[in-house]
Amino acid sequence: MAVSLFAEHKANGLVFFTIPSFTATGLTKHGFSSRQGGVSTGECSSLNLSLKRKDLPENVRKNFEIFCDALGIDTGRMVFAVQAHGDKVAAVDEKDRGKGFMRGSDITEADGLITDKPGVALVTFHADCVPLFFLDPEKKAIGLAHAGWRGTIARIGAKTIAAMQDKFNTDPGDCLAAIGPSIGQCCFEVDKPVADGFRAAFPQHAERLIEPIGEKYHVDLWLANKIQLIEAGIREENITIADMCTACNKDMFFSHRRDLGRTGSHAAMIMLA
Ligand SMILES: [Zn+2]
Repeated sequence: MAVSLFAEHKANGLVFFTIPSFTATGLTKHGFSSRQGGVSTGECSSLNLSLKRKDLPENVRKNFEIFCDALGIDTGRMVFAVQAHGDKVAAVDEKDRGKGFMRGSDITEADGLITDKPGVALVTFHADCVPLFFLDPEKKAIGLAHAGWRGTIARIGAKTIAAMQDKFNTDPGDCLAAIGPSIGQCCFEVDKPVADGFRAAFPQHAERLIEPIGEKYHVDLWLANKIQLIEAGIREENITIADMCTACNKDMFFSHRRDLGRTGSHAAMIMLA
């Protein structure tokens, strides 16, 4: 594994990752889970955090307690949306706490969540798809997005920043952002139609984003997201990239691609403290 710009934490078998630049502000509690340290078995072994996988709900709830306890976040503060590989962003607040975990979520088809309310924990789910974290330390607002290849092309990251500008008067030039563990260019092999989608979405960067290998193409989702965040006004030096491929690291991460869908899910989580 390449040297990560995320910080790795270990406690009682649990392993999770945080963003040093975010931690330095003292404004958030946040993290990205690995697969290590939970109670699930089989393909979800062991820290599966999705209630939609082949896992027992009581195991998932226990896993959330383990992960949230390490982050210092009460599980009742979490807000889940129903992810749809789209480009919709939802602003949430105190009344949304518990959605998706304590009760069903009516935040449908949202792959981006934002808030400026302390004590509201945004949560997105990932098993190869890119987690994007945002912190505006000036206006004290946060965002979190789930960017698979469809969401990356649809610019869910840039749209999350735009929603923060719209709702919280965020200046992207103030913002910190991070691109978490997810499938790397090493493993994200696609056919021509998907490669063409990236070429059309990022015409000036196609050479850097798309590497032809035999009849297939390898696409760099991290760079595609970084480019759109810079275009949205975030300074390059304020973007942290984990540089960890979920598909390459079977002991550490679930991977939808590598495990052919028979796998668990990670969670990205961030809350204004
Ligand atoms: Zn890889």
